Amino acid sequence: MNHTTSERLFARASELLPGGVNSPVRAFRSVGGTPFFAQRAEGAYLYDVDGNRYVDYVGSWGPMIAGHARPEVLSAVERVMRDGLSFGVPNALEVEMAEAITRIVPSCEMVRMVNSGTEATLSAIRLARGATGRTRIVKFEGCYHGHGDSFLVKAGSGVMTLGLPNSPGVPSALADLTLTLPYNDFNAATALFEEMGDDIAGLIIEPIVGNANCILPREGYLQHLRALCTKHGALLIFDEVMTGFRVALGGAQQRYGITPDLSTFGKIIGGGMPVGAYGGRRDLMQQIAPAGPIYQAGTLSGNPVAMAAGLATLALIEQPGFHDALERATHVLCDGLEAAAREAGVAFHTTRAPGMFGLYFREGPVETFEDAKASDTARFNRFFHAMLERGVYLAPSAFEAGFMSSAHGEAEIAHTLAAAREAFATL
Ligand code: PMP
Repeated sequence: MNHTTSERLFARASELLPGGVNSPVRAFRSVGGTPFFAQRAEGAYLYDVDGNRYVDYVGSWGPMIAGHARPEVLSAVERVMRDGLSFGVPNALEVEMAEAITRIVPSCEMVRMVNSGTEATLSAIRLARGATGRTRIVKFEGCYHGHGDSFLVKAGSGVMTLGLPNSPGVPSALADLTLTLPYNDFNAATALFEEMGDDIAGLIIEPIVGNANCILPREGYLQHLRALCTKHGALLIFDEVMTGFRVALGGAQQRYGITPDLSTFGKIIGGGMPVGAYGGRRDLMQQIAPAGPIYQAGTLSGNPVAMAAGLATLALIEQPGFHDALERATHVLCDGLEAAAREAGVAFHTTRAPGMFGLYFREGPVETFEDAKASDTARFNRFFHAMLERGVYLAPSAFEAGFMSSAHGEAEIAHTLAAAREAFATL
């Protein structure tokens, strides 16, 4: 494969953008090599500026669940943009979007639109703190909730360990307020709440962890956290930026039958445009300005073009059977990858939820962040490049989930598995 144009662009970009990119994981730092620059995308495929084609298992990190450049989405965007790109006064599409989210996700009685997942999560914890009058929040090792100061906190070694900032620029006075827990550990959560429950404003969790590869909750774990939060008067916040509208139409909360107090969304509800949202119980959301005193605002929030893209995407995924088909395709892919690894004698394991999956170069099961970290990442990196050379683009990090779309059909999966058989053999 020829990558000359991408290499030239990356050299220019590296002079002007930190690391050559506008978001770190795109730089291929963990897998090595030079990222390719996209020219266009369609269905399950990405095309780069050198004319190479890839089956895309990243899907813009989640939004493209119905495939790239769907005509239904593009024509909605074109129609709406002719009337102007932004108004700074309310528009009807914001109401339609709020109706769609509250209908699909019943725990959200009201919502507020924002412009990214990061904005959604940091607004949700401000609301949790404002509504409870408490200051501490709880997050989980390996969970990512965007780059808000309170979330950039290193996992502590023990249950009661106070957070240490893991980015320069995050004051320890703020990071100290973030408590971390090991995901899927029942007793650690109980112990932390017994010790500090009265100080905890909210607990935020990726119900399925998509930022430590893909780790599923143990049976009853999310219920356990729901019960602890209720008992101690803390708010349960589901960060469904990744899982929302993906692992079920109503997200992980529908799949596992949990009612969080607040939820955060992004990615799919923007259909590829910059969108986030947070929502939840009416009595909580009524405390957001201007209904209430907790301030949060945005010049471009509820942007009409972004709403149009999101609404058109939601219409596509609301079609009956959409998520069942996505789940079946995910199993076919993951079963096929495991079989190919077995044939090649490579220790390998997959985890799956509808439309998302994790790849591990180790034997299963993988149920904790420690398990995920014990995967052979050097092997993953070699596999990543062997697949890329064969026209398959996986997430460029051993700790990111892969994403499927409804455009990943038999032909795309067959191509992927043929590439994987060759790639495993090279390891
Ligand atoms: N929460 C989760 C679970 C995410 O996966 C991400 C982004 N991958 C975010 C929040 C932050 O979203 P954004 O990048 O849109 O700010």
